[in-house]
Amino acid sequence: MNLIDLGVTDKVQAKLAKLHIHNLWDAVLHLPLRYEDETHITMIDDAQLGVPVQVEGEVLLQEVQFKPRKQLVVKLQDDAGSVLMLRFIHFYPSQQQQLSKGKRVRAVGEIKQGYYGDEMIHPKIRAADNHALSETLTPVYPTVSGVTQPMLRKIIHAALSKADLSDTLPDSLLQSLRLPSFADSVRLLHDPTPEYTPQQLHDGQLPAWQRLKFDELLAQQLSMKLAYDQRRSGSAPKLQGDGAWCARLLAALPFQLTAAQQKVLAEIKHDMLQTYPMHRLLQGDVGSGKTIVSALAALNAIEAGAQVAVMAPTEILAEQHFQKFTQWLEPMGIEVAWLAGSTRKKAKDAAKAGLADGSIRIAVGTHALFQDDVVFADLGLVIVDEQHRFGVGQRLALKNKGREVHQLMMSATPIPRTLAMSFFADLDVSVIEELPPNRTPIKTKLIHSGRRDDIEAFVRHTVQQGQQVYWVCPLIEESETLQLQTAVDTHLQLQAAFPEYSVGLVHGRLKAAEKASEMQKFIHNEHHILVATTVIEVGVDVPNASLMVIEHAERMGLAQLHQLRGRVGRGQAASVCVLMFTEPLSELAKARLKVIYEHTDGFEIARQDLNIRGPGEFLGAKQSGIPLLRFANLEEDVHLLEQARDVAQWLIAENSAVVDVHLQRWLGSREAYLGV
Ligand code: ADP
Ligand code: MG
Repeated sequence: MNLIDLGVTDKVQAKLAKLHIHNLWDAVLHLPLRYEDETHITMIDDAQLGVPVQVEGEVLLQEVQFKPRKQLVVKLQDDAGSVLMLRFIHFYPSQQQQLSKGKRVRAVGEIKQGYYGDEMIHPKIRAADNHALSETLTPVYPTVSGVTQPMLRKIIHAALSKADLSDTLPDSLLQSLRLPSFADSVRLLHDPTPEYTPQQLHDGQLPAWQRLKFDELLAQQLSMKLAYDQRRSGSAPKLQGDGAWCARLLAALPFQLTAAQQKVLAEIKHDMLQTYPMHRLLQGDVGSGKTIVSALAALNAIEAGAQVAVMAPTEILAEQHFQKFTQWLEPMGIEVAWLAGSTRKKAKDAAKAGLADGSIRIAVGTHALFQDDVVFADLGLVIVDEQHRFGVGQRLALKNKGREVHQLMMSATPIPRTLAMSFFADLDVSVIEELPPNRTPIKTKLIHSGRRDDIEAFVRHTVQQGQQVYWVCPLIEESETLQLQTAVDTHLQLQAAFPEYSVGLVHGRLKAAEKASEMQKFIHNEHHILVATTVIEVGVDVPNASLMVIEHAERMGLAQLHQLRGRVGRGQAASVCVLMFTEPLSELAKARLKVIYEHTDGFEIARQDLNIRGPGEFLGAKQSGIPLLRFANLEEDVHLLEQARDVAQWLIAENSAVVDVHLQRWLGSREAYLGV
């Protein structure tokens, strides 16, 4: 049954779609944001400021004022004789009518202290005469323009009476979890009974909310577990190399793999021996040495006769991988193809032909690698760096293309435990727990932007020691042009400040070749200072750079700051990261700077980040526009998450009928996104 059966017109349906309400279920699960208490009248003198109240009285005066702008002003007097001002910036003639002098009305809203005394701005107004007070709290729903609260309430009520609210979960299970039935839960939240206050109803600890959160988490667990099982029953080529090329590469390296790198490589090789696709996340803090591990995994696949695709989220990062892979593999006669957006057509065609006929065994690039017209003769392994930075759409494309191949994903952003248990539950995870030896820890300094001279002196000192410097320009989210301008200005400014040094510049608008040439100069110490926008944030590896200056650090996110800072501290020299900030600092910015100042461990930073801003950005799912978890909160509801995990395991083993019904109710059209 769908919305048309409730008598909803096409026009309203289109608006409901914006609220992600497509069917009865969506309507039932469209839960109130908050509740208004219209069950009693508060006397004006008793009302607390800033708390929603309902007052009742007679209109003493109504006038339209024009200063400072056109507005409707009404004076309301209650039965105790107290007067309250009501103010409307937008109003209709019908409202003027409703509020004409002498009318008795109820106004619901928060009283605030205004310039002319206590007032309510845009209160909800209703005629008082002959109207009994409502007996229950009034739910207030998230909505869009064109869908009023009464309309939504009507639709949701109809949905509640038409939809099958019978429980998806067995009684015995609900009893042991002490959770109320689904029907009681949604009815209570939409239509609260009088014993609850708005605060109680708002509290996620209420059993009805717990039930909805549990159901949601259970649906997620079930879909992840099914995806996991499905992958294990799929097929992929068993890749067992003879180890000859791997041994040659290891012998040629100027270092030895750490024990942690050896351990994760063994886990990856073990996966590649299976006949179902690997789906492994290689996690390691910035600088932990993931690239060489991935190169050895690639060689193993090539030894076994398979083709390999290595994909990175930005062209700069992909380019660096391309250079490293070329440097490592070419001595063995293995050609590495390059495929990115900017690759010339001729080179691209040659690469595509080689990949299609199998004469080229490995390609490195951006998501250009996964365009429809790129065909691999026998792709066996896909390596994705900085996996979390790809958008949902790109991940789905990869997933579809790579269904039958082994996948190795890499990320420097550690996955907090709750996310590993939820959104990433279908992945196997390997962690590089130690950094390569001889790294000196990075010192982080917070310096006010007013002390730019000191910072420049420090830059000079660093370059005099033979070291190099990154200078990161501020993020300007509102305007790319402005950001570009800032980068160009900063470059000029630093060139003027350091006439004796070579100062490079990279930003997002440079042509790929220019970008590459600037990076090459920095890598070879021909540029002493590199001015960059945040494009350098991921993956760039120049061990001789030991100072990073970040302007307007207060504008950046924690993960970004940690990634940027990880560009230094890669060589023997003691490294410093200077975070320049400008006041005033928002609370959020203060919280972030404190975390980045106090912690160097990426895992701890990611955990704090999750606390500060929630999981959405981490998952890269913001652009999908689909809320991933609507009710549950991964940090607050860990106990429910753990229960859901156990119950999912049990249901899949013992009661697959319940699994189907529950998933159908909770996922519907969202399913494709949950497993990304
Ligand atoms: P990330 O994990 O951030 O991608 P990289 O793979 O770029 O890190 O490695 C960072 C640096 O550490 C590189 O210069 C790399 O050559 C070096 N490296 C990797 N493994 C080792 C090791 N076992 N010993 C010493 N240096 C290493
Ligand atoms: Mg890397």
